[in-house]
Amino acid sequence: MKTTNKIEFSVFALLSIFCLISCTSSTKEDSPPNIIVFLVDDMGLMDTSVPFLTDTNGNVAKYPLNSFYQTPNMENLAAQGVRFTNFYAHSVCSPTRVSLLTGQNSARHGVTNWIRSESNNRTEFGPSNWNWKGLTKESVTLPRLLQQKGYRTIHVGKAHFGPFNSEGENPLNLGFDVNIAGSSIGEPGSYLGTEAFGHTGGNKKRAVPGLEKYHGKDIFLTEALTREANLAISQANEDGKPFFLNMAHYAVHTPFLNADPRFVENYKNLGKPEKAQIYATLIEGIDKSLGDIVQHVKDLGLGENTLILFLGDNGSDAPLPIEDGYSSSYPIKGKKGKHWEGGMRVPFIASWVLPNDKAPCQEKTRIAQNKVQQQLGSVIDVYPTLCEVANVSPPEGYVMDGFSLQHQLNGQQNEKRDELFLNHFPHDHRSSYFTSLVYSDWKIIYHYQVDEPPRYELFNLKEDPFESNDVAGENSEQLKIMMGKLASELKNKKALYPEKEGQPLELILP
Ligand code: CA
Repeated sequence: MKTTNKIEFSVFALLSIFCLISCTSSTKEDSPPNIIVFLVDDMGLMDTSVPFLTDTNGNVAKYPLNSFYQTPNMENLAAQGVRFTNFYAHSVCSPTRVSLLTGQNSARHGVTNWIRSESNNRTEFGPSNWNWKGLTKESVTLPRLLQQKGYRTIHVGKAHFGPFNSEGENPLNLGFDVNIAGSSIGEPGSYLGTEAFGHTGGNKKRAVPGLEKYHGKDIFLTEALTREANLAISQANEDGKPFFLNMAHYAVHTPFLNADPRFVENYKNLGKPEKAQIYATLIEGIDKSLGDIVQHVKDLGLGENTLILFLGDNGSDAPLPIEDGYSSSYPIKGKKGKHWEGGMRVPFIASWVLPNDKAPCQEKTRIAQNKVQQQLGSVIDVYPTLCEVANVSPPEGYVMDGFSLQHQLNGQQNEKRDELFLNHFPHDHRSSYFTSLVYSDWKIIYHYQVDEPPRYELFNLKEDPFESNDVAGENSEQLKIMMGKLASELKNKKALYPEKEGQPLELILP
């Protein structure tokens, strides 16, 4: 108990000193920009009319799913900002959400699986010490740094940072001033106001907290959250505060039981199964929300001073038929939870709400317009990027795994960053007990096996972006290079391994 208090005290002491320095040194000229992180649950790379794949010449290429979905506000955002074609998230929810708030890879922060609200989701051979309780009051979170800088920090929607009755359950413990509808739950009990979002109908164990004024009303959850987000923005503006809005929609996660009625007509008669139609209405709902929030910020006269980052938290879970590993993210292989690219590639767009090169904060953070950025980026980069944008830093000695995206937002290459993405998943799920590493043109997947030797997969993503040709058996030299890198990454991040009878499995090199 004493040790915990000591750690807690020292973290806060450091933060306070830091705040004292940064607050006194800030001038009116560097008044910090407002920041919106627009996070869509389970939105994969292909769940949009904005093409995120490129052809061999580096031009964006449209695929059939881009023609199925309708996301006009994302199209506008991409046209006035920069879209990343190689942006990675962890393969399930909580690992990514904790990475966004901590700037650390899941192998380091230890939330390697999605958090089950009621119990430890370790699974049979998972590491016994994995961080199943999630974030705590002591976590050095991005909202806490921004809060110390004077931001109004607002969480709206799905949180999923800790189980029931944990500190991480409540965003107010994690540096947020305002929490609208966030708790431990990872999916809404119901999207319908007429079912009180799970309190009176649907799955009552996953009832969405708050939002009482919409209970019994004919309103979709996405719309209720959007209205509340806009009210919170207005309040921050009235109070003269810069704001950080973590707009974390419950959509487009399951359940796919009820369509968003505003968009049903758009997806009828297109030959897709009913659930896929429902899913498409959820997608268009979050796109409408994006448009409404952007318009509200403009109406308040804050457009030039407000930055927006749009992204998904893991690969798509669209209810489309699977054939040979390809489905939700076609032509990308796999989906949410899988070790292929479809599990981890997500849309990412950055833009000023109202681009103007002469606006002071845009002089500091340039964002290219209508630009396609092919260099790798990931959810782990969001924290260092926003620290730079808002001119805040974590206490000395705090380890961040990502890189600031500032050069890349302006359409340039960042020569100093590494181009790798590690996804460590020592649990049982859709793909079980694996570590994958994207490193430059290559990708390796190491499959842990309890009673037999491990299994390797190796792909050259440059030549084979859709992972149809595993060359692990025929390119032993590259396999050794990639395994060496994977092993050093895991060691560097102090990763925990799957266990057999209480003993961690050792990595076996080829
Ligand atoms: Ca998710």
